[in-house]
Amino acid sequence: MNSEYSAREQVILTQDLWRTYQTGIHQEVHALRGVNLSVDKGSYLALKGRSGSGKTTLLNCIGGLDKPTRGSVRVFDIELKDLDDKELTDFYRKNVGFIFQAFGLTPIYSALENVEIVLQIAGIGYKSRRQRAEHCLERVGLTDWMHHRVHELSGGQLQRVAIARALANQPRLILADEPTGKLDTSTAREIFSLFREIVEQEGVTILMAAHDPLVDEYVDKVLQLSDGLIIDTESLA
Ligand code: ADP
Ligand code: MG
Repeated sequence: MNSEYSAREQVILTQDLWRTYQTGIHQEVHALRGVNLSVDKGSYLALKGRSGSGKTTLLNCIGGLDKPTRGSVRVFDIELKDLDDKELTDFYRKNVGFIFQAFGLTPIYSALENVEIVLQIAGIGYKSRRQRAEHCLERVGLTDWMHHRVHELSGGQLQRVAIARALANQPRLILADEPTGKLDTSTAREIFSLFREIVEQEGVTILMAAHDPLVDEYVDKVLQLSDGLIIDTESLA
């Protein structure tokens, strides 16, 4: 089917999304001030903005890790506030992969074990989870490193393990919070281009906070966040 004529499938839709933190008895910080964001299936987007502009808060509200003070967040057409905690956990485990700046890997495990553990939690049997974990590590170019422990890997390799782990449950959406924040420029390029491949080959949607200017070369669109509002959307496709 010609994509021009197919209906656009919305992966994320936020409407008038506010997140206010109570920082003292009479003090509040408005981290998000009415964000309206719509993300189509199969897009690769960068969320930019200086530190404190609300990028992490927005990703966390979309990722079910934080609760909006007001407004609506729909992910794959599910209104998040309609889900209870268990439903929310199940929903994210099935549909969404997370990647953070600090990798979030278990140090005593090998690369393979770090990927297998999420499949084990999801109730996948030993043989299938081993196969799936090996496949995901191959996908990120780490076949030769999968039995190495985390402390034996470089920063770029660690982030690849984290990406393999995020891919393990075959998510339809990946949320990444400054995934290259701790990496050098050429390693950051490798990660941005690996994301591009994943979007194109697997039809996954990626929303990523990144303030590195070179990200513009890889994504479809840049969303500029300032003081809790999206102020500019630049289409690069
Ligand atoms: P970014 O990721 O763009 O650096 P954040 O989303 O982390 O921005 O923060 C947005 C604003 O919300 C900042 O002013 C920050 O200090 C504030 N903030 C974030 N988390 C909390 C929290 N748990 N309690 C109070 N203020 C917070
Ligand atoms: Mg942040």
